[in-house]
Amino acid sequence: MSAPGSTASLRTANQRRVVEALRASTGSELSQAEISRATQLAPATVSNIVKELSAAGFLESESGAGRRGAQVKISLGAGLVAGVDFGHSHLQIALGDLSGGVLATVVRPLKSQHEHSEGLALASELLDKLLAGQGAARSELRAVGMGLPAPIGNSGIIDSGSILPGWVGINAAEIATETFGVPTLVDNDANLGALAESAVGIGVGSASMAYLKISSGVGCGLILDGKVFRGGLGTAGEIGHLTMDENGPLCRCGSRGCLEAYAGADALVAQFAGRQPDITTSQLIALALGDDTGAKRLIEDSGRYLGRAAAILANVLGLELFVIGGDMIAAGDLLFDGVHNGIRRHALDPVAKTVRVERAALGDKSSAIGSLLFALEAVELPS
Ligand SMILES: [Zn+2]
Repeated sequence: MSAPGSTASLRTANQRRVVEALRASTGSELSQAEISRATQLAPATVSNIVKELSAAGFLESESGAGRRGAQVKISLGAGLVAGVDFGHSHLQIALGDLSGGVLATVVRPLKSQHEHSEGLALASELLDKLLAGQGAARSELRAVGMGLPAPIGNSGIIDSGSILPGWVGINAAEIATETFGVPTLVDNDANLGALAESAVGIGVGSASMAYLKISSGVGCGLILDGKVFRGGLGTAGEIGHLTMDENGPLCRCGSRGCLEAYAGADALVAQFAGRQPDITTSQLIALALGDDTGAKRLIEDSGRYLGRAAAILANVLGLELFVIGGDMIAAGDLLFDGVHNGIRRHALDPVAKTVRVERAALGDKSSAIGSLLFALEAVELPS
C-alpha cells in the first residue's frame, strides 16, 4: 500500500482508472485516445500507463504498445478471477478473465445447515475443476469475490441475521482468503446481484436502482449514483425486515410482520404447510400457475407486499428501476402483477408512473457474476 497522496499512489489510481475504462467499454477494448477521453487523463499519461502495463503482461494492443491508434485490451494471459455465491440451498461459482468476462460457471446444491468450512472446501474443489476445464492452474487465480445471504456489516463478522447458521460469528473474508490463497472480498449476495445487473444486466444505464432477490428470504441491493450503496454501517438495503404489520407473524429476525414473513418463499411454504406439508417452493409455484386458488392467492399477496415495500424505497430514494431476481420469479406475472399493483397503490403518483420493474437479465447467475465483478476490485495491478 502506498501512502495516500504519494506519487506511487497517484500512479496506481491512474492505472486503475485506465483498467476500469477498458472493463466498462463495449468489447473491453479502446484506443489510447478513447482511454484518454474516458478517464480524462492526459494522452502522455495514458501512453505511459499502457506501456508499463503492457511490459508487465497486463495489457496488450494489436500492434505494439506504442501505437496510439491501436486497440488496447486487458491481456487474456494476465490472470483469472472467480465469483463464489452461497445461496440458501446452493453454491454457484463463476470463473472469469480480468476484463470481467465469464468463462465458465457451475452450480451445486448445498444444505443451508452446512458448516462454513465444508462450504468453502466444496467451493475450492469446484473452483479447481473450473480452472482445469479452462486448462488453467490455480496459480493464475488473482482474486475471489464471495456473496453470502447475510448482512455484512463493517466488522466483517457474520451475525445471526444470516440464514446460514454455520457462518455466524466468523470473519468470512479472512477465512476465505486463507482457503483460496488469494485476496477475497465478501459482500451480501443481493448487493452483488445489484452490481451485476447494473454493470452488465438489465440495469445498464440506470444510475439508481434496486435489485430484489426473492428466494427463501427477501434480499435487496441498492445502486445509488452508479455505485453499490452499503451505508455507514455496511448493511444498507435490508428491506426484508421492513415492518408491514406489527401484529403480523413472527419473523426469523425476532420481530413481527416483516416483509420477509409475507413474501419470502420459506414463509409462503410454511403458510401452505397446513394443506400440504413438505411442499417445495417450485411445487408451490407450479400449483399457483395451475389452478390452486390458495397457492395463487399466497403469491399474489406476496407480490403486493413486495410492491408496497418497493414503493417506500422508491419514494425515499427516487429509484428508476427495480430488478427482481431469485427463485420466486418463476411465478412470472402472478408475482409481477402484484408488485405493480403494490407500487401503484403506495408510491407517489409521479414515482409510480415512472419507476420500471424488470426481471433480472442474468437470471439465477446475477449474484455469482456480481461476485466475479467484485473480485476485480481486489486484483493487484503490476507495480
Ligand atoms: Zn424480520
